[in-house]
Amino acid sequence: MFSRHAHTDDDPVVSVSNIDGQYPALVVCEHASDYIPTAFDGLGLSKEARTSHIAWDPGAREVSSYLSAALDAPLVTSEISRLVYDCNRAPDAPDAMPAKSEIFDVPGNQDIDQKERSARIEQYYRPFEGSVKQALSQLGNEAALITIHSFTPVYHGKRRAVELGVLHDTDTRFADAILKFAPALTNLKTMRNEPYGVEDGVTHTLKLHGVGNGVLNVMIEIRNDLISDSEQCRTMAEMLRGLLFEAHRSCVSPGHSKAIKP
Ligand SMILES: [Zn+2]
Repeated sequence: MFSRHAHTDDDPVVSVSNIDGQYPALVVCEHASDYIPTAFDGLGLSKEARTSHIAWDPGAREVSSYLSAALDAPLVTSEISRLVYDCNRAPDAPDAMPAKSEIFDVPGNQDIDQKERSARIEQYYRPFEGSVKQALSQLGNEAALITIHSFTPVYHGKRRAVELGVLHDTDTRFADAILKFAPALTNLKTMRNEPYGVEDGVTHTLKLHGVGNGVLNVMIEIRNDLISDSEQCRTMAEMLRGLLFEAHRSCVSPGHSKAIKP
């Protein structure tokens, strides 16, 4: 698995790159980092827990970076562990600062008072939310929002068969198109709203920035054993580039299709 992304308390909590990319899509990675600022003292977790998939989505940053480069699209990543603040959760969601994640209790998140909650929202979530909003606003009305995640092959002791999840909220346009093209453009076992769905609260970014603005949107979930080194991440991003490009093109009205560069 990857070595951790180098980060310190002095670095920004959100990264924006390729902001002048020419392709009208925004790639977003909410769970790119397992970084826990030193003030939290590891949230009281063992090293094993705080570097496991409960803290971040292994491989998602690398796939997002390769995809951003391959599409020539801007990229926004959160640089803070989702255990400190999960940027794919609204501030009032109970699991925005989860007290428990899968099998691990998170000691530093037990009984957080309102002051601490507000401080984390302001420090970690608002800058991320603002960066996504700002980047999307520059892309015009044919833009697509693509969020990249990874999931663990074994969850609560159960093996997951799905390899590529295509998730959506109430606006299904982009996801429908991706699922239509998937059989021709990928060999992966591709499923709709797996291994998670709306009922798990995972569509916050899609709802807020996509559905709410009429922007095409999709959340991509990749089984993390398929993106465990740079070569696999590059291959995955290349496959996604083709799949997302075809799906996006099919969603955009024909009269405007020249806006989409191959
Ligand atoms: Zn994720």
